[in-house]
This record gives sequence, C-alpha cells and structure tokens, in this order.
Amino acid sequence: MVEHQIKARGIHNKKLLDSFLKVERHFFVPESMISYAYEDGPLGIGKGQTISQPYMVAIMIDLLDLKEDDVVLEIGTGSGYQTALLAEMAKKIYSIERIESLAISAQKLLKNLGYNNIFIQVGDGTMGWQNRQEDKSYKKVIKFNAIIISAAAPEIPEKLVEQLSEGGRMVLPYGKHFSQELLRITKKRGKIKKENFGGCMFVPLIGQYGWKE
Ligand code: SAH
Repeated sequence: MVEHQIKARGIHNKKLLDSFLKVERHFFVPESMISYAYEDGPLGIGKGQTISQPYMVAIMIDLLDLKEDDVVLEIGTGSGYQTALLAEMAKKIYSIERIESLAISAQKLLKNLGYNNIFIQVGDGTMGWQNRQEDKSYKKVIKFNAIIISAAAPEIPEKLVEQLSEGGRMVLPYGKHFSQELLRITKKRGKIKKENFGGCMFVPLIGQYGWKE
C-alpha cells in the first residue's frame, strides 16, 4: 500500500511514510472488510461513514506540514485510523466525532494500541474543541497548530479558523454534497491564505457550520 499507492504517487515525506508503515489499517476496518484493508479506496465503517482512501489521508496529512511539537485538531474521528497516523507525527491530537458509537470504538482501539497523546470528544466539530469541566485529563486548549477536517464542509467553519494559531494550517474538503475541492487555509498575521489542491469526495460534515441533518 505504501509503495504503490502513496510513494509511487509522489509523497516522499519520510516521517509520514514511516507512520503509514507503522499504523496497521486492518485494525481500523470492520471484521468483514479485513481482507480489503490495504486496498486503494475508502471502506465502510458502519453508520453510513467511511475510512478514507489511504492516499487521500496521506495527501491531507502531508499538506498539514506537521512538526513534532504541534498540537492538532481533527474533525471526524471515524475509525481512528487517521488519528493514529497524526499521533505518530505530532505531539497531541484532539479529535471530535459526532457519532458516539464510532468515538467510543476508536477511543478503545487507540488506547489498546498504546496511544496516550490522543483526546477524543463526542460533539459537533464545526463548533471547535470545547473545554469541558468534566474532562479533567484534558489540558485546556484554545489554539491548534493544525486542523484537519475529514468530512465535506459547505463553508469554512469560522470557529475552527478562530482556533487556528498564528502560522496554523487547516486542510478540508470544501464544496457541494458530492464534489469538493481540497483546500488548505493558512493563518498569517491574522490573514487567511487559501490554496486549492483539486477535487475530492467525502461524506458530509454535519453540524452548526456544516450541512444540516
Ligand atoms: N478520518 C476518518 C474518516 C471518517 S469519515 C477515518 O479515517 O476513519 C468522516 C467522519 O466525520 C464520520 O465519522 C462522521 O460521523 C464525522 N462527522 C461528520 N460531521 C461531523 C461533525 N460536525 N463533527 C464531528 N464529526 C463529524
């Protein structure tokens, strides 16, 4: 998978390729899908949701330009596969999933795999990370060096732009229900720069600053 789907298509970020070699995708797909775990496409993970195509995950993480010390916010934990990859590449990963059962299974799996730098919250990620009082284990966070949205956004969620730190990068699929463009937003001196990296297709981002249910 790493050689043919990711490296051969031009991704050479060593840390990213090493993370892909380390995180085993078959742990993150339903049992009935295990024989397809390393195929070149998205797979169903239940509740109408998908684990993204490995190459798409690679492009998005590559665009985040992560540094070891970065604190990252992920919207749409899903299976937790991308969360694990992010946790290999940055310091702390905060991840929000709106479907509770997916959040719970991802959390269990990631804990069993030994990750202790991942914090998962159930809720509407378009509202940004909520510092909740009951979550004593979470250090209060306000700003993120990188934000990755793994569901299709009809608008750029303003709360997420607010939670992006100076110099921060946000990668998201932006557009209509069945066709989107992959955007990278960079925040510099309070200004927003947008770059477009071409077409893609994701399940909808549902929430206050997303699609309505
Ligand atoms: N990165 C995941 C992809 C999951 S698909 C993986 O590799 O498995 C996108 C996920 O976004 C779904 O699980 C969906 O429930 C979730 N989602 C959609 N809208 C959301 C929102 N507003 N907040 C949090 N999660 C959301």
